[in-house]
Amino acid sequence: MRQKRGKLKYEPAPDLQARMLQIIRLLELSHVRAERVKCLRSFGSSSHRTIARCHALGKLMQHAMETNAFYAIEFLERFDKLSQQDQDKTIIHELMHIPKSFGGGFRHHDFVCGENVDLLYQKFENSLRKSWFC
Ligand SMILES: [Zn+2]
Repeated sequence: MRQKRGKLKYEPAPDLQARMLQIIRLLELSHVRAERVKCLRSFGSSSHRTIARCHALGKLMQHAMETNAFYAIEFLERFDKLSQQDQDKTIIHELMHIPKSFGGGFRHHDFVCGENVDLLYQKFENSLRKSWFC
């Protein structure tokens, strides 16, 4: 596919990686193998509505490459304009797409919906508060 406006560029996002790790830890998402999830920023995407998306190395590519599942969370330019709360919700949303099996597939938006994201976000906020006071 040819991009209309300039080239797509990807950069590692160590700041978002650190925040994702904190979220994984506080929410006890033990099925997420954090060392096999990478956060990246992308620039130059023509997608205006998308804030972030979750990518996976699917089963066939895992077999072809003789490796295990790997996920990447892409944060588009719009992400950095969001409030801290909406950014955290977005990270939680993308993490929720990763299934318990960590097998290279996705959980879909019947599960990854506003209501479930809000529930986990509440849990995250509560544990964050506890971790400040203990
Ligand atoms: Zn989603």
